[in-house]
Amino acid sequence: MRRFLPLPLAVALVLGGAAVTARSDRAARERPLHAGHPEGRAKRARALVSEAARAGSGRAALSPEGAERGYDVLTYDLRFELDPAVVALEGSAAIRIAALRPGVSEVRLDLDDAMTVRGVERDGASVAGFTAAGDVLTIPLTPPLGAEERATLVVRWGGTPLAGGALTFWTAPASGPAISSLAEPFDARTFWPCVDDPADKAVVTLSATVPAGYVAVSAGRGASTSEPDGRVTWRWKLPQPISTYLVSVAVARFEEIAAEYRTADGRTMPVVGWVVPEHAAPNRARVAAMVRHLEVLSSLFGEYPYLDTKYGIVEGSFSGGMEHPTITLIGASLLGNASRDLTNLLVHELAHQWWGDEVTMRTWDDIWLNEGFATYAEVLYHERASGLPPGFLLASRYDDGLYAGQLGPAVVAPPSDPFRFTGAVYDKGAWVLHMLRRRVGDEAFFAAVREYRKRHERGSATRGDLRAVFEEVSERDLKQHFDQWVETPYRPVLRATFRNVSGGAEVNVRQVQAHAVVHPQPGPNDAPHYVFPLTLRLFTANGGSRTATVDVTRADETFFVPLDGGSAAVAVALDPDGDLLEIVEAVGPAL
Ligand SMILES: [Zn+2]
Repeated sequence: MRRFLPLPLAVALVLGGAAVTARSDRAARERPLHAGHPEGRAKRARALVSEAARAGSGRAALSPEGAERGYDVLTYDLRFELDPAVVALEGSAAIRIAALRPGVSEVRLDLDDAMTVRGVERDGASVAGFTAAGDVLTIPLTPPLGAEERATLVVRWGGTPLAGGALTFWTAPASGPAISSLAEPFDARTFWPCVDDPADKAVVTLSATVPAGYVAVSAGRGASTSEPDGRVTWRWKLPQPISTYLVSVAVARFEEIAAEYRTADGRTMPVVGWVVPEHAAPNRARVAAMVRHLEVLSSLFGEYPYLDTKYGIVEGSFSGGMEHPTITLIGASLLGNASRDLTNLLVHELAHQWWGDEVTMRTWDDIWLNEGFATYAEVLYHERASGLPPGFLLASRYDDGLYAGQLGPAVVAPPSDPFRFTGAVYDKGAWVLHMLRRRVGDEAFFAAVREYRKRHERGSATRGDLRAVFEEVSERDLKQHFDQWVETPYRPVLRATFRNVSGGAEVNVRQVQAHAVVHPQPGPNDAPHYVFPLTLRLFTANGGSRTATVDVTRADETFFVPLDGGSAAVAVALDPDGDLLEIVEAVGPAL
């Protein structure tokens, strides 16, 4: 159908008479196999390596999110001793907690069993009787904490971190040993003790003491001091609270590439690339381009969230990018490849600073709130920067056109394996937002996006929160929209016929998909079929065309489109601009 069939060919087929069936899956096979979003593939591959490493050492798979705990973490002050040439770490964490109810008698921290706990203190006094087993460090609180009472727990630990966990010791091609980290989704605990729940955000200070000649990089603002033994301590602080899976550290003999971002009202912020020296040359232009990316995304979503610190990229061991706040990790294989165009990846990771880092999904089943927004930001960037039509971009680059292909599963992810279906989470997630934009209009869409940000900045959100903001701003009931596109697998399949009548043409649109829309919570306006705005373009015998947008509300519906001066329709294109995630199975004249 029109998504993959060039329009002149479609028209020729219709003009040739007979029943016309342009099956999108046949056309799709002629395109390179769409294998999901590259960042999603990389994240999924890394999660599988971590899971395999755990299974290989006889441990259970990690589980997402904590139970109701009765306490909240306010701050983590993390101190690491690291040497890229030695696979080991020593760490200490000062963890400030606040009790949310009376009688909190223990604190449970996620910490991988590969780490040995060397000691625990509570407000300066040594704690006896802590236990570390099953990847949980349990610290007894005697006496218990009262409601709203606070305490600082200091944990010291060390050991050889799990291979395949968050911390990777890697070797740069010329400058030698290096370390990078990537904890998403459940691996923060493989290198530091934490409440590994994305909804329990905390302010993080991170310092790393490393051998002379190395640079350690993390979130926020940083400074270095020399130690008496010749090592160097790099200390980083981000004032805004973040989720545990976003805490990162990278160590190498980095060279710094500096640029500057200037806001529309004249404030400035450093933009920095930390890359190994042998990869500096090809990355100067990339870091410079990030300034333009910041300008465009800030114009779309509101000002960059961490303007008081920096935005940077840092090189590490990964086959994609990871949106650590203010310091995105980019793999050495990408940064070391001078000819590779990294625009989409860099824009995607930058967009995560708003969507993922500042506003984080509350639970892992909503990972599409991070990834759908970041993926749609790639499309919005090209639309804003180069004038490319967003539907065309989505249809040509973010869809395989298949009923049960990469975008087949529901957008809501399995919480224990959030990157299982990256085509649904990334690509269909982006489609959900684009179709929401077409449903409510540009003005309401961008107003709602900013309101959603404002309401949940520095916190977390669910798909229900997103829907609530959009319903409020657009003054529309969007339950059907969210149910059919977010909760329901597959996509609608359409067949259409047209016939000329007095003063215009009638176009009949039928939904013939085999599945019904899923409604997790029943509502009075639920429909088993899809409800959506649909653009029709009628090509007329006099060489002209007429475009109309209709509201499809029934499974079988006929629309009248007026045509000027008695001209007759000779062909009809459904959704000619690619604004709808569907399969158009057949369009032809009514028999
Ligand atoms: Zn992403």
